[in-house]
Amino acid sequence: MSDCMFCKIVKREVPASIVSESPDWMSFNDINPQAPVHIVLIPKKHAAGLSDFPLSEAQLLSSLLFEASRIAKEKKLDGPGYRLVLNTSVNGGQTVPHLHFHILGGRRMTWPPG
Ligand code: AMP
Ligand code: ZN
Repeated sequence: MSDCMFCKIVKREVPASIVSESPDWMSFNDINPQAPVHIVLIPKKHAAGLSDFPLSEAQLLSSLLFEASRIAKEKKLDGPGYRLVLNTSVNGGQTVPHLHFHILGGRRMTWPPG
């Protein structure tokens, strides 16, 4: 999608602090971090949310979870713990309509979330 911020990052039209990348996904530091570690992990292919993924994309979705886990280990978050967040649409607080996980760590999270 030409006007999607995360698609622009994938196409290198907007700079980002890239953490990791494969042909299918990319992760980068959030521009407005909500925790000492705040990384955004996206599939490169544009999709607004989970419901836009067909069952045939199950492998891509699971690879995102494995990459989130790998990043958490790399950033030494797996010991103390971390939070993996997927905001969806208006009530979920989604502001960028390109599916993404937030990997948040380095501080104690509160529950329930705001
Ligand atoms: P959400 O509110 O769940 O849609 O999350 C979108 C996230 O993307 C927010 O945490 C923003 O700070 C982050 N964000 C928006 N634009 C950029 C950008 N150009 N580079 C890095 N992170 C961004
Ligand atoms: Zn997009």
